[in-house]
Amino acid sequence: MMDLTAIRAATAGLSTGRVFLDSAGSSLPPRVVTDTVIDHLRREAEIGGYRAANERFDDLAAVKTSIATLIGATPDTIALSDSATRSWTDFAYSVPLRPGDRILISEADYASNAIAAMQRAAHTGAVVEHIPSDATGRIDTDAFAAMLDERVRLVSLQHAPTNGGLVNPVAEITRLAHEVGALVLLDACQSIGQLPIDVSALGVDALSATGRKWLRGPRGTGFLYLRGELARSMEPARLDLHSAQWVGPREYRLAEDASRFEFWECDVAARLGLGAAVDYLLALGPDQAYAAVAERARYLRATLPELPGLTVRDLGTEHSGIVSFTIEGHDPVQLRDHLAEHDVTVTVSHASSTLLDMTARGVAAVVRASPHYFISPDELDRFVAALGELVGRG
Ligand SMILES: *Cc1c(COP(=O)(O)O)cnc(C)c1O
Repeated sequence: MMDLTAIRAATAGLSTGRVFLDSAGSSLPPRVVTDTVIDHLRREAEIGGYRAANERFDDLAAVKTSIATLIGATPDTIALSDSATRSWTDFAYSVPLRPGDRILISEADYASNAIAAMQRAAHTGAVVEHIPSDATGRIDTDAFAAMLDERVRLVSLQHAPTNGGLVNPVAEITRLAHEVGALVLLDACQSIGQLPIDVSALGVDALSATGRKWLRGPRGTGFLYLRGELARSMEPARLDLHSAQWVGPREYRLAEDASRFEFWECDVAARLGLGAAVDYLLALGPDQAYAAVAERARYLRATLPELPGLTVRDLGTEHSGIVSFTIEGHDPVQLRDHLAEHDVTVTVSHASSTLLDMTARGVAAVVRASPHYFISPDELDRFVAALGELVGRG
């Protein structure tokens, strides 16, 4: 069992009395993460950034080892970056595309991914097509299989989308995509830190993730995983003197591993903070953490529908820790602001973030509550009670 009292004591943001239900947006870090970042910034101010980084050389290398441990990979397949979108685009802009090539994106795809895919298509003569969802809201595997041919070069999958509790059948879709030689890029922003991820079981070619959400890391952190063979063979769209080496007047050589997708300059303090966040989760026991998130989300999905006019909007058959809902006659933004006045933090996910899915469902916005394992049962009840008061069930 997880020691909730100890976990809560280790998180500064939980002593405020506010109920924090936005780990899908930007979570509350454990103290060790904040301390790691601040300590390093202080050290940079004392001895300069270069010497300060040199002092933490081994710890910086260990950040990749920790991430690799969490997702069942090896450190040489991890490229650190400053955001999930940076990592996603680093990969997507490096896939060679020719006129007539096809990029498939799913209905739940995140706006940044879709926009980048459209731009890539416009520049190369490729086309972007949309993979339909089935009646439950998951990717329709039969429809997907029927779309495939050898012109499909890149498939963008959402492990768990930003706007609700859906979890997609990634391994199955990936297996089908590989039958025609397409590359599969998985957006794991909303799954890393709250759902088990084993890259060899999922089989994906690349995976992008962010630090600040369920991993509880600092803002401005993210990473890209590349399947080992790709980490050694794929040419990134952009290079610098870290991703490649200038070995002759007209010659450069790419780094041997996934670091070919990194630039030299980075926020060292934030990176160390990301490492501290992943280590914190590993020490806690990821499986217990994931189970605790699922339990809290399940509780909300069971309890919220008791409120008049409330509809839980989560799609799919198995669910992530994101609980999305609307309440008849209430604007989601106003609900969020009212809840903030009651010291409850939730967010709103607008159609513009996941346009295909929200348009298909005719939903303009949903309220998003994302309880992490550190949320107490009492806080969940305070949230439901505050909402009940607002919608007239006191
Ligand atoms: C938040 C989010 C992103 C973007 O992550 P950044 O770190 O802000 O780039 C991408 N995809 C999904 C599903 C997200 O929820």
